[in-house]
Amino acid sequence: MDNDMIPKDTIEEEVIENAFQSLLNDYLKTKHRKRVEIITKAFNFANQAHKGIKRRSGEPYIMHPIAVAQIVCNEIGLGSTSICAALLHDVVEDTDYTVEDIENLFGPKIAQIVDGLTKISGGIFGDRASEQAENFKKLLLTMSSDIRVILIKIADRLHNMRTLGSMLPNKQYKIAGETIYIYAPLANRLGLYKIKTELENLSFRYEHPEEYKSIEEKLIATAEERDKVFNEFTAPIRVQLDNMGLKYRILARVKSIYSIWNKMQTKHLPFEEIYDLLAVRVIFEPQDQEEELNDCFDIYVAISKIYKPHPDRLRDWVSHPKANGYQALHVTLMANNGQWIEVQIRSERMNDVAEQGFAAHWKYKEGGGSEDEGELEKWLKTIKEILEDPQPDAMDFLDTIKLNLFASEIFVFTPKGEIKTLPQNATALDFAFSLHTDIGSHCIGAKVNHKLVPLSHKLESGDQVEILTSKSQRVQAQWETFATTARAKTKIASILKKEKKNIQKEGESILEEFLKKMELALNNNVIQKLCKMHNYKTEDELLYAIGSNAIVLGENDKNILKEKQEAGWKRLLTFSFGNGNGKKEKDESLEDNHHDEAEKEKINTKKILKLTEDNLQKKYIMADCCHPIPGDDVLGYIDENDKVIIHKRQCPIAAKLKSSYGNRIIATEWDTHKILSFLVYIHIKGIDAIGILNEVTQVISGQLNVNIRKINLETEDGIFEGKFQLWVHDVSDVKAICDNLRKIDNIKEVNRVES
Ligand code: MN
Repeated sequence: MDNDMIPKDTIEEEVIENAFQSLLNDYLKTKHRKRVEIITKAFNFANQAHKGIKRRSGEPYIMHPIAVAQIVCNEIGLGSTSICAALLHDVVEDTDYTVEDIENLFGPKIAQIVDGLTKISGGIFGDRASEQAENFKKLLLTMSSDIRVILIKIADRLHNMRTLGSMLPNKQYKIAGETIYIYAPLANRLGLYKIKTELENLSFRYEHPEEYKSIEEKLIATAEERDKVFNEFTAPIRVQLDNMGLKYRILARVKSIYSIWNKMQTKHLPFEEIYDLLAVRVIFEPQDQEEELNDCFDIYVAISKIYKPHPDRLRDWVSHPKANGYQALHVTLMANNGQWIEVQIRSERMNDVAEQGFAAHWKYKEGGGSEDEGELEKWLKTIKEILEDPQPDAMDFLDTIKLNLFASEIFVFTPKGEIKTLPQNATALDFAFSLHTDIGSHCIGAKVNHKLVPLSHKLESGDQVEILTSKSQRVQAQWETFATTARAKTKIASILKKEKKNIQKEGESILEEFLKKMELALNNNVIQKLCKMHNYKTEDELLYAIGSNAIVLGENDKNILKEKQEAGWKRLLTFSFGNGNGKKEKDESLEDNHHDEAEKEKINTKKILKLTEDNLQKKYIMADCCHPIPGDDVLGYIDENDKVIIHKRQCPIAAKLKSSYGNRIIATEWDTHKILSFLVYIHIKGIDAIGILNEVTQVISGQLNVNIRKINLETEDGIFEGKFQLWVHDVSDVKAICDNLRKIDNIKEVNRVES
């Protein structure tokens, strides 16, 4: 039949029907109960609820919930309850139906998950900064009551990232920013490695499209060579494993584009010098589930007979799974071409866990994955504890949580040999708080491997740690400087805060006692007089000073307080005069603002802002943190005074801004003509030789005619290292300089650095 003959609606219905059928087929292939009926009911309900609504891309809205349900089913491995909740996830948010309606039709469990998803919708963060922490808290709370909420939320985000192309550019940066800042680490924490990697790659692709393409092309260009290395390297391994009579498969795993870029950035390496692009995965089917762990080590022994293993790079996550449940044995071996190659050894079960995270545990529940579920519970408990002591500042709160999301882990032992997982760089103090708040708040020192160390001592994997406590010990303010875990940090802050409150109360009663003798009451007048007298800004500060005996009230105070009302007023007047001054200044600045406002047109965040030589000088500010120059991938952030600040897209400060003030982000584009100059920093390293500095400066100012602002050079043991501050026009200048410097014989490394 000719397509023109069919009404558009019918074609659309068919597309929707096909998408749903494909979801059902995928579901029926899983080991879950075959609850087709309720899934179909959820689909029909969502389909009619979203009827007529389109996504920005132009496709019917329902295609989104279907896609999310499919991710939930195929890529996370969840069952019918989650599939239904995924199909219904936007119904309460976007239509007139309520959670009660969902509950009546689908029961309390699905309704509860949909409710959780609705509450945390609109990105993790609301539009205002104050809301973001609230939303994030909600997210974590719902997560700790039913982890499926967050798993479906991650699926939702993954689909939104996959279809990000149809969004406005400023929204793209907001969403990509949130994704890299929160969702990717969250996916990682929950063991969803595959999804985490895809989220990172997608974010990166939108923020740095050209660099993404360039790495992608280089990967394609080098694929054949890698295949060759892989085949040669694995051939003898296959022989060994066949001899052992194992059922196995061997996969090549290529480092993700984002990870490659990340390594290039942090280690200042060109693509060609990333040597761990290729890893090898041996995945086997144990003949006997009980022998799974032994099999891993048997395989390790067998292949280390073929290739020399790197002595420091055996990672045993088989006996000690990561907190997110990850299990595998990693070993790095020297291939015949002299290249180190990492081999990851895991069973099919471990592989499922590695790709689908905790969801996979439910599949193997009888198989004894319970220990790892315990780890998840423990982590969720920590999150709950952090939530009980919220930080005053929303951004601090986010940082604290993130600290725990990102950190890689170390394992330490209690004196009784119990294993504790801590984030990397954790101190003895963190360990104390991880045992119990009481132990933390009363600890005086620690013994690490039987040696006495201070509480600030950094722990390492394998340490055995004993905490020494004393009843008289109290939480010290300086502990805040070396506590690193969210748990220790929040506990210390809240104990200190409580103590401060107590001291203030103490101060209040001392003051009241003092006033009573003078037959005066505690009022604002008194407080203001004393604050002025002792130079404190707030009542709290004053009371704390009195309570901690920093000041002792005496005759002088009596005299001032006794001064007649009139005199008191005079004092008060001077006091408020000070304030008045401040006010006046403020008024002036307000006026200034008005002035500005008259000149400036409202910034439209929906449009792409063109950065021209003209407006760069007058209107926009280059961020101090990342020093962007024309040609860098940048974005704009509109601050409280409506000034646009230009950041590099990968700048950590910008990452935070994207996640927390996404609606103040504006997409930008360079449109410059090489008139303005910008300061950049170039780092070089090489072998010291006579005349090398001359050669370097010759390249920079002689050949390229670039002004040098500052040079810093150091030589040690025949190696020289230096930093240049140069005035350049744009990224292409920097590239030309670096390329030319690299051509000098004894120069081994040339990089642009942030400062
Ligand atoms: Mn959605």
